[in-house]
Amino acid sequence: MTLDEILKEIKVAKKIVILTHESPDGDAIGSSLAMKLVLKKLEKDADVIIPEYSRLFNFLPGIDQIKKESDIKNYDLAISLDCADLKRLAQKEYFENAKRTIVIDHHGSNHMYGDLNYVNPVSPACCEILVGVFEYFQMDITKEIGICLMTGIITDTGGFRHIGITPETFEFTAELIRKGVNIPDIYKKTLRTKTKANFLLTKKVMDRMEILEDGKVTFTYITMRDEEEVGAEPGDHEGLVDIGRDIEGVEVSIFIRQNKEENGYKVSLRSGNHVNVSDVCLMFGGGGHQRAAGGFIQGTVEQVKERILKEVRKAL
Ligand code: 5GP
Ligand code: MN
Repeated sequence: MTLDEILKEIKVAKKIVILTHESPDGDAIGSSLAMKLVLKKLEKDADVIIPEYSRLFNFLPGIDQIKKESDIKNYDLAISLDCADLKRLAQKEYFENAKRTIVIDHHGSNHMYGDLNYVNPVSPACCEILVGVFEYFQMDITKEIGICLMTGIITDTGGFRHIGITPETFEFTAELIRKGVNIPDIYKKTLRTKTKANFLLTKKVMDRMEILEDGKVTFTYITMRDEEEVGAEPGDHEGLVDIGRDIEGVEVSIFIRQNKEENGYKVSLRSGNHVNVSDVCLMFGGGGHQRAAGGFIQGTVEQVKERILKEVRKAL
């Protein structure tokens, strides 16, 4: 069983690094910090390397121990969490240079790029997979570990609202409440707190939003200049894609965000009931989940918009 092999790899490794996807969300950071705390119980002092993340996550236990980079070049073991492909992994050279690699993820589009891959596309969050993994390792889930895991579950399920939530999601939540984890507090800090820059970007995004295809599709965007104007920091674009999806009758919400260095736009798609946006994004080299996916396309706003719309129309 893969989990026995994973535990074996962890036990023999001396230097371990934990990595996750770029533009990390609550599931990415929560799973990384939870894994670090569990490894500590196994007497392994692992490095979590995440170059940048939203300051809204500063409440998480162990966040101050995150490193931007490391002097160690060749780790014995690299663990990638919540990341579907190597291309998206932040600081991927530590993964590429590690002697052994493990991937734990919940994306259906996962490329299985580790020596050992534990992928469950049915799970609503990588953090929920880790609940099962840690139980299998017979590790006690402490309050601190619980806060990290709950953060991933709350953010990836949009506060228990998205498809994919399971009986286990609620059983685990109940168990954590008994341990004293304050669920409304995590909910407030992750989903209900907006930075001022995020609010200002929301105004721009709403103002520019086009409703297309007989009201079934929305399109909106932000440029790097917009982000400079509002003083945006990492993570301040989070949630902007959800605005269009919540409009009555909309099936696909398209949000694009400029990346000048790569001369194009980072694409985010969300769908309501039936369009598989992961399949749509696979058409231009991205991926994700059925109802939330992304990718990257080179070109101007208009070029990128047309390229996505072409694929979205086929899927409507
Ligand atoms: P978001 O729109 O929040 O950036 O991403 C939504 C989902 O799509 C996430 O689960 C994320 O992992 C996935 N995703 C976003 N961008 C990419 C990408 O460029 N490639 C792949 N494979 N998945 C992506
Ligand atoms: Mn996730």
